[in-house]
Amino acid sequence: MIKKPYLLTPGPTPVPPQVLQVGGQPLIHHRSAEFSQIYMRVTEGLKYIFQTGQDVYILTSSGSGAMEAAVVNILSPGEKALVINAGKFGDRWTKICRAFGINVIEVVRPWGEDLPREELADQLASHPDARAVFTTLSETSTGTVFDLAEYGRLTREKDTLLVVDGISGVGAMPCPMDSWGIDVMIAGSQKSFMIPPGLSFIAFSPKGWESVKNARLPKFYFDARASRSSLLKKTSPWTPAISLIRQLEKALAIMQEIGLETLFTHHRIMAEATRAGISALRLELLSQRPGNILTAVKTPQGLDGNRIVKIMQDKYKTHIAGAQEPHKGKFFRIGHLGFIGGFDIMTALTALEMTLDECGFDFNRGDALGAAEAIIKEYWP
Ligand SMILES: *Cc1c(COP(=O)(O)O)cnc(C)c1O
Repeated sequence: MIKKPYLLTPGPTPVPPQVLQVGGQPLIHHRSAEFSQIYMRVTEGLKYIFQTGQDVYILTSSGSGAMEAAVVNILSPGEKALVINAGKFGDRWTKICRAFGINVIEVVRPWGEDLPREELADQLASHPDARAVFTTLSETSTGTVFDLAEYGRLTREKDTLLVVDGISGVGAMPCPMDSWGIDVMIAGSQKSFMIPPGLSFIAFSPKGWESVKNARLPKFYFDARASRSSLLKKTSPWTPAISLIRQLEKALAIMQEIGLETLFTHHRIMAEATRAGISALRLELLSQRPGNILTAVKTPQGLDGNRIVKIMQDKYKTHIAGAQEPHKGKFFRIGHLGFIGGFDIMTALTALEMTLDECGFDFNRGDALGAAEAIIKEYWP
């Protein structure tokens, strides 16, 4: 039998054929008028996705590079920052800040929980000297989304900056940078942008730029001032990832044609269908505030989550993600962001049913599919 592979991880995500094709075009030079035109179109497209009037800068790095860029461009050694850590990526903010000598006040929540607005308000009251709050739009390690609109209401009138890791969520769920009062927002290419890994994006509010002026942490490659002055000349400070940027141009054109609202609705339907399938199997979600980017599912009692992921990958070629340390085996994650359609969800659930059957889990075959199918059919335009 031909085993066709399927990628259903929360990054990297599948790349549409039209976008793949663009990646194979002959290289053009990055200091040419042709490239400058592409670069400026892409910058405009990113502003649309970020829902901001500020310029969005393109970095040649995976998402974590933009996280580091956010830290080094707004802070000085020894300054205090609040980090909301409710998973792997919140934890990464802590690690990056500490690597640069920031005085981190960690607000830790168990994996799967979010942080209610009141608790952030209390933390801000206890730490009025915190220069920034570092948080996450969609915590990809757990599927949880945070109430950033409310966080923005808390930081807006203060000197504290709101810094958002939007790497998996931006472009797939609402996160309007300007109207929510986000001061630094970042995203990454291999999640909802439907292109391969290798690019990240960052934008600063006017309040964010004020901090950039005074920030004394060391930086060179990720210096936002270099990106800003180069963009005035319609280019990037260093050799950009030319082919990826061409792919991004194509992907953004697709996203703009679909429109943000429709993209958000699409992701909501994909998530609802997945969750319906999961609850039909009487499996439990990990997250108490699940978003529409991925679905984290607790491993049923007596089974090993690593084995589920492994059978799905090795035998059925359906790649989902396991749980990261220190929760390996305790849950698994189905990604449904980017270039994913309703029948991809059915594929994931079919492979999951076949795998659970093999693991001896007791359920009625087809229940997950029936539940997901009903949702997909209901919304089919
Ligand atoms: C994927 C992801 C990252 C890490 O990005 P890399 O591209 O692997 O460096 C950070 N934060 C979130 C929320 C993510 O989903």
